[in-house]
Amino acid sequence: MTGYLLALDQGTTSSRAILFDLAGAPLASAQQEFTQHYPQPGWVEHDPLEIWQTQRDVVQTVLHQAGIGSADVTALGVTNQRETTILWDRASGEPVYNAIVWQCRRTAPLCDRIKADGFDTAIRAKTGLVTDAYFSGTKVAWILDNVPGVRERAERGELAFGTVDSWLVWKLTGGKLHITDVTNASRTLLYNIHTRDWDDDILAYLKIPRALLPDVRPSSEVYGETVPYIFGAPIPIAGIAGDQQAATFGQACYTPGQSKNTYGTGCFLLMNTGEQAIASQGGLLTTALWQIGSGPLHYALEGSVFIAGAAIQWLRDGLGLIKSASETADLAISVPDSGGVYLVPAFVGLGAPYWDAYARGTIVGLTRGTTRAHIVRATLESICFQSRDLVDTMQADSGLGLGVLRVDGGAVVNDVLMQMQADLLGAPVQRPQVTETTALGAALLAGLATGVWQSLDDIARQWQVNREFVPHMSADQRETLYAGWKRAVARARDWIEN
Ligand code: ADP
Repeated sequence: MTGYLLALDQGTTSSRAILFDLAGAPLASAQQEFTQHYPQPGWVEHDPLEIWQTQRDVVQTVLHQAGIGSADVTALGVTNQRETTILWDRASGEPVYNAIVWQCRRTAPLCDRIKADGFDTAIRAKTGLVTDAYFSGTKVAWILDNVPGVRERAERGELAFGTVDSWLVWKLTGGKLHITDVTNASRTLLYNIHTRDWDDDILAYLKIPRALLPDVRPSSEVYGETVPYIFGAPIPIAGIAGDQQAATFGQACYTPGQSKNTYGTGCFLLMNTGEQAIASQGGLLTTALWQIGSGPLHYALEGSVFIAGAAIQWLRDGLGLIKSASETADLAISVPDSGGVYLVPAFVGLGAPYWDAYARGTIVGLTRGTTRAHIVRATLESICFQSRDLVDTMQADSGLGLGVLRVDGGAVVNDVLMQMQADLLGAPVQRPQVTETTALGAALLAGLATGVWQSLDDIARQWQVNREFVPHMSADQRETLYAGWKRAVARARDWIEN
């Protein structure tokens, strides 16, 4: 078989396109940043047309760079920043308002009202999510309630809602397809992950007309093709998944218990729980992981660490303790241990499993012997301890063993950090050959739907480790250090006074 797979990776700050060969190796990529709009404190918006134009342009650039025509592309897959909300006019294709970005906090008061009504319990049971401004549902309600004329137009069926995947597929197909996939749907706060349909109770509560909503489709199937006037010859559109789910797919975490952790500004950890939607006792999200064609829906437990690589940035930009992130590796191993120092980077509170908005960052265990190296080491360790907190919670919730942890994201270039993670987790950490796992996942989903691969086993066999870090630390030492972390977290908690 000859051809190429194309991934459209629409992120929060940039649109990217990566071209892969049919063995899943990246051949060319292009990236374009776009404007972040902050109309008020805590509000974040994107221009949907700029999202579309940058995404279209990077595809054209990547095809040009590789010197291939769209006829040579076997299929494309779309992966995207999740939860970001767009409403547009079905006739004109014009957005009625800017995209409200996942980070935007404008609907926090509405979320408070939902909680005061006690409706958050039903939302949690139906959607697997916590009631938070992060997800799309309250953003849709906000646009309907605040942009003049929009509610009437929505009720007349003139408007369409979509997350970024829906918007891009609509544009790519010249308005022919208004669809989303299960993973993106499961982040809207409107989708019942058990009945696998938009939830009428939630729609009624938020006063959202069903007529706005896209069809929910599997993450891997041939949905349609691009219209010829965009890239030339039509390209089959054959994969859609939200960024974290796409990364999990790109990491070939296909069996229950397999997990990936992405180390960027924060961390995103997802564990495959198979066909079981597991309700978390530790405050993790239950989310759709993917559906392949007409196969069963697979679920994941998801947790995130708010501050991970951001703590390294703070060492550099806030404290001036280092000049570059990469210095942390040598500094950390210049001392045998952190000298009893713990740094809890609760700069914006703590997420799962603590859920303490009043926690703040703290450094404990300082002595006259403490050096810059100890603090740097403690910072790296804090990334690993926070990830361990999530892994432990997932294992307790699911009863599934972790086996190995697959890793990706900007910080995994740091070998010292990865070794620490293996040591503090007590499990091997695998860094893949292709670290562009999000884009790879989208390409793989598209390739699976178009017969490039016959099965998940086929893909899993092809997935390659760049390096495996195996734990060297004794269990005793690991648990002693981890107990220290728990004590340090206790010192950071409940700090800000209400
Ligand atoms: P995001 O997608 O969240 O912007 P990236 O995946 O690009 O993040 O990763 C960038 C993050 O990784 C930054 O927070 C940075 O501090 C961290 N980082 C980059 N290189 C290293 C390194 N060598 N050691 C530790 N952290 C690093």
